[in-house]
Amino acid sequence: MTFPISEASPVRFAGPLPAACDVVVIGGGVIGVMTAWHLAERGLRVTLCEKGRIAGEQSSRNWGWIRQQGRDPDELPIMIESMAIWRSLAQEFGDALGFRQTGVTYLANTDADFAGFDRWMEHARAHGLDTRLLGREQAASGLTGAAALWKGAIHTPSDGRAEPWTAVPLLVQGAARRGAVVVEGCAVRTLDLAAGRIAGVVTERGRIVCDQVVMAGGAWSALFLRAQGVAIPQLSVLASVAATEAMPEVTQGGACDSHFALRRREDGGYSIAPGGEHDFFIGPDAVRNTGVYLPVLKKDLRSTHFRARAPSGYPDAWGTARRWSGDDVSPFEAVRVLNPAPNMASLCRVQDRFAAAFPALGRPKIRTAWAGMIDTMPDVVPVIDHAAGIPGLVIATGMSGHGFGIGPAIGRVVADLVAGRATGHDIRRFRLSRFSDGSRIAPGPSL
Ligand SMILES: Cc1cc2nc3c(=O)[nH]c(=O)nc-3n(C[C@H](O)[C@H](O)[C@H](O)COP(=O)(O)OP(=O)(O)OC[C@H]3O[C@@H](n4cnc5c(N)ncnc54)[C@H](O)[C@@H]3O)c2cc1C
Repeated sequence: MTFPISEASPVRFAGPLPAACDVVVIGGGVIGVMTAWHLAERGLRVTLCEKGRIAGEQSSRNWGWIRQQGRDPDELPIMIESMAIWRSLAQEFGDALGFRQTGVTYLANTDADFAGFDRWMEHARAHGLDTRLLGREQAASGLTGAAALWKGAIHTPSDGRAEPWTAVPLLVQGAARRGAVVVEGCAVRTLDLAAGRIAGVVTERGRIVCDQVVMAGGAWSALFLRAQGVAIPQLSVLASVAATEAMPEVTQGGACDSHFALRRREDGGYSIAPGGEHDFFIGPDAVRNTGVYLPVLKKDLRSTHFRARAPSGYPDAWGTARRWSGDDVSPFEAVRVLNPAPNMASLCRVQDRFAAAFPALGRPKIRTAWAGMIDTMPDVVPVIDHAAGIPGLVIATGMSGHGFGIGPAIGRVVADLVAGRATGHDIRRFRLSRFSDGSRIAPGPSL
């Protein structure tokens, strides 16, 4: 698998497109793939349509952290289930998945960071996690050769990592083995409605008759849904990552402070990134949703680089079409794989931070750099819900920068939602109506 995955990557799932099935899943990221997997396991006829390549967008571009630590309390039980699913996936796929429970450490730059870690311990204790709070003296004890820069740390040994660009393309093989029909290079243009409910979808390669649709389109979900009359206040931010040349091991797992993050890779290098720093393109959806994003904007103001416009064709670019019919070429075909240019100035600062944190290793050499568009919600938790106005439509999107690790269990939950079974978790926090029923919208106690 060459990285990053792009339109030039070979098509592995060419079709043919079935005329009919029970459920169409839109989007071949980790959420769509694992939803298709679990639907197929339940005996439903499922077709997964991906406009570009499986895992071409966020699901191959992420840091590869699989963490329970720091989760929103309503996500935590789902994430604990996901960790168990990852362990069983590792049995099915072996080392190629890159899954290892090698721990995750957050390092505190300030007393306020440390106080936040301390508060989150309540959730770790409630779920019996192996999370530990580390004082100033022990903060860097798990990081070989680290300078003593931090006020303390929080560490969860059972947290893990995987190699996203190999993992998700493997997982789709598992879904296909269970009976899911997967079609790459096949954008879904519109929903096909009869008497207000789902009767099928219109793709660029023709119609598929079905009773249910799952929208798992990552950064494209809001654009698609709005054209179908469903408004969700989803926006995207650009996050940059680099892979270093092979270097001595400072940790087998992941570590971050508020300036930089690193994760040991299977190839002996690190995936490094600027902690919470990201770029934000202003567009029509950003303007429309400013009010509901104010709490998170205030929190992230200093770590956000605002840019006046997105490149042409991006989901919230000024010139992107907002309405089209099933006969029109849709915005999803114009950009098969969203492949943003990374912010190299940001990554250059990360190299400096790395050198300061590990003086004996010095400045890491960057082998390759890339970026992804993270789809986010104003309260930094997803929407997992039926769309009330369109019977047969389920929405699973807005993973807000932490959907890779939790993806396997979200897929299980969404499949049960579609199948009309109990999901086994309280998912009311993730309802779509929270944005219209007067609920207070603010990020929860996640880290
Ligand atoms: C730089 C970065 C670092 C991250 N680090 C982590 C991490 O360490 N741990 C973690 O848990 N999470 C992390 N995340 C977040 C994680 O990658 C995402 O939450 C997760 O991959 C989202 O999966 P998804 O399936 O919802 O979306 P995506 O992976 O974006 O997939 C959506 C797919 O839908 C397709 N699509 C959209 N519209 C249509 C349409 N109309 N028809 C057909 N196909 C369509 C797209 O082409 C795309 O392939 C990170 C993300 C980024 C970008």
